[in-house]
Amino acid sequence: PVVLQAHNLSKTFVLGTEKVHALRQVSLDIQQGSFVAVMGPSGSGKSTLLNLLGLLDLPDQGEVTLAATPTRGLKDDALTLLRREKIGFIFQTFELIPTLSAEENILLTSELAGQLKQAKSRLPALADRLGLTGRLKNRPSELSGGQRQRVAIARALINHPSVILADEPTGNLDSKNGREVLEIFQQGVREEGWTVVMVTHDPAAALCAEKIIFLRDGEVVGETETHSLDARS
Ligand code: ADP
Ligand code: ADP
Repeated sequence: PVVLQAHNLSKTFVLGTEKVHALRQVSLDIQQGSFVAVMGPSGSGKSTLLNLLGLLDLPDQGEVTLAATPTRGLKDDALTLLRREKIGFIFQTFELIPTLSAEENILLTSELAGQLKQAKSRLPALADRLGLTGRLKNRPSELSGGQRQRVAIARALINHPSVILADEPTGNLDSKNGREVLEIFQQGVREEGWTVVMVTHDPAAALCAEKIIFLRDGEVVGETETHSLDARS
């Protein structure tokens, strides 16, 4: 089934006297349990698309449907709730809170949502899967870049989101740690049924996904299957 759908999304920004068509009538379907990469040159609309898919920004036209919920006309509160329940975000710069331990970073949103107990019970298995056991009491400054991104992945996943949206998740990592993150995504999709949408301009990273969607000048200009997860059991 389709877990996240973009239907005819358009978004224009006004810069002084100039209009920038960041997205033009973009439609796409993200299947549950799939790993999709969005590629395109700088300025092609990747971040804008991810912001709209993540309900962080609203389209001028078109609609995002998330987990069977059409979002057009929803009030900010409803959008926030839906985003918090259904989406896990992963950023290029990790966006961890420096004064909190890894564990506190991972659990913070669950705590705010009154879900601390459930989240705590899920933490050991997730930390184990991500190779973070033994690092949970450390602050971000005491962790390597790869470990920081794995903490951010744990934070995104602790509430069992319907979709993970990752914006250049390997952009600040060396190739070994980048590969590790991509393998974590592949393994999560294969074994745990995660759904991952990843924006990247790195072809090697995109090839780890099952499907690559190409953006150019705000339009979808191509789509290709990679068969990278075909060996899944
Ligand atoms: P990408 O992520 O592929 O680099 P973006 O989605 O960031 O592309 O940007 C697409 C286009 O929209 C670019 O021309 C960019 O300058 C413009 N744009 C994006 N966000 C804004 C904004 N908040 N205000 C004005 N222009 C923007
Ligand atoms: P990324 O590196 O992920 O592509 P960008 O550098 O394109 O991100 O954008 C960073 C932030 O600045 C985003 O929130 C985006 O919406 C905004 N932005 C991008 N282009 C412009 C622009 N031309 N004018 C104003 N804001 C912009």
